[in-house]
Amino acid sequence: MPALSQRVSRLAPSATMAVQARAAELRAQGAKLVNFGIGEPDFPTPDPIKQAGHRAIDENFTRYTNAGGTPELREAVAQKYQRDYGASFDPKTDVMITVGGKGALFNAALALLDEGDEIVLPTPYWVTFPQQAVLCGAEVVTVDPPSEQGFTITADALAPVLNERTKLIILNFPNNPSGAVIEHDELGKMVELAREHDAYLVSDETYEHFIYDGEPLSASAFGKDRVIIVGSCSKTYAMTGWRIGWAAGPSEAIKAMEKIQSQSTSNPTSIAQKAAVEALCGDQSCVAEMIDAYRERRSVIVDGLNELPGVSCHMPQGAFYVFPDISDHLNDDIPDATAFSTYLLEEAGVVTVSGLAFGCDGHVRFSYAASMDEIHDGLERLQKVLS
Ligand code: PLP
Repeated sequence: MPALSQRVSRLAPSATMAVQARAAELRAQGAKLVNFGIGEPDFPTPDPIKQAGHRAIDENFTRYTNAGGTPELREAVAQKYQRDYGASFDPKTDVMITVGGKGALFNAALALLDEGDEIVLPTPYWVTFPQQAVLCGAEVVTVDPPSEQGFTITADALAPVLNERTKLIILNFPNNPSGAVIEHDELGKMVELAREHDAYLVSDETYEHFIYDGEPLSASAFGKDRVIIVGSCSKTYAMTGWRIGWAAGPSEAIKAMEKIQSQSTSNPTSIAQKAAVEALCGDQSCVAEMIDAYRERRSVIVDGLNELPGVSCHMPQGAFYVFPDISDHLNDDIPDATAFSTYLLEEAGVVTVSGLAFGCDGHVRFSYAASMDEIHDGLERLQKVLS
């Protein structure tokens, strides 16, 4: 067999793969598992958005669009940032529509990173960030914010690792997996740090609206120089399968990213783009309803986890994950978070994701994008095996 590329061999096997494979095996044997592993809303896509998709098909809006997305959707994205954060993006040059937020992140990595460049990631990071960087030959530098404060990153913590090789900093708030949100002023300082070091700052705002105790915030409020905002319809509008995200930032970066997209996926699905216009411009009450439900689930799961022996769970400010500290349970037989996650699966039939996947041992991620019944069932099972 001809050799595979060096690029692909640099990719690490997923830390979650073994647990996921075992969960699939147990399910196939008829086991009833409680799934806290999946990072996906359990709500259906709201009806008006689905109807816009139907209309697009009926009206034969089924052809290629511009590689960077339809003018209508680019305009909707630009208006959203103007309305919400007073940011001015020219929809023609500063915005592109991508195949999910993940597509935007990949285009950015390919457009910005060369072999030997450094990319800075606060931990815990979303699993995909380091892998995309490694595919581009970049070196990953991590910064570890204190877990006791819920992993909130500050500019002072970031500053010492920045140097002339730093090309890209990726921030993600509300954070997957910790739910941490960055303070507004700290975010402004981090944007300045990126500019001073001639680096780009990618702000992954996929969970932008999922903030439970404050106002949504966006790096777009600090101007577009050196800042690329990544957004997505996936979580906000329960549209994970539609695959619509975007990037907004300085035109030179967006142009380069669009060039990459034009030679890889081409445009995101035309039908899904029409649905996304409805999502962004239509009635937003569906978002408020989903957020209310997540807020309630957050309290139940955090309280329940804190009642378990040896588990300590910080109240996350946003997203739909909790990332409790389980290090008291680690020992010779269960040496790390992946072994603990496997133990929960085998003994309790509860699916979680090991913190090692996010660069943090001693923690596991629970997604509470699950029904209240599932949350109660899962907590009861955990109480039995951990007591
Ligand atoms: N960024 C973060 C932090 C995520 O958790 C996800 C999905 O889980 C994404 C980006 C990408 O989502 P999508 O490609 O569905 O927009």
